[in-house]
Amino acid sequence: MTQEQNGPANTPDCFFCRRRAGGEEDPVGGYLYEDEHFLVGHGLLDMSEPGSMLVESRRHVLDPGDMTEDELRSLNALIPRFYRAMHDGLDVERVYLVAATSSNPHFHAWLHPCNPVEGERGVTFLARDHSCTEAEAREASARVAERLPARAAT
Ligand SMILES: [Zn+2]
Repeated sequence: MTQEQNGPANTPDCFFCRRRAGGEEDPVGGYLYEDEHFLVGHGLLDMSEPGSMLVESRRHVLDPGDMTEDELRSLNALIPRFYRAMHDGLDVERVYLVAATSSNPHFHAWLHPCNPVEGERGVTFLARDHSCTEAEAREASARVAERLPARAAT
């Protein structure tokens, strides 16, 4: 799919484009990671476990099929860093990577920490209602941030 098929870049109808333009708040605790193609911060509080991370592309593209080689290299580099930081910082059994882009056709991928609730894992776990407080998000974000490699090492 081409950029044109995804609609115009920086559309005001898109939450992530509005966020890039300063029309939506940054994640609670701020962005933990930024490069020229992606930003990563805590997920929206009404959709997150404490420590859920949201990877956002700067460009209004639907999915990796629309990304440039440079964007794909950045994405490929940052995802394992967050897996490691979340496992170490949050002490979770699994980290789930989910990119549905169902409400905004702008690439964003969730990294959900999972410690099974009542034995529920996988899709059953993801289908639960997730939320956390601002304090929980800040505390979990700080623990993930402590485990991320220094920016200079990227
Ligand atoms: Zn967008």
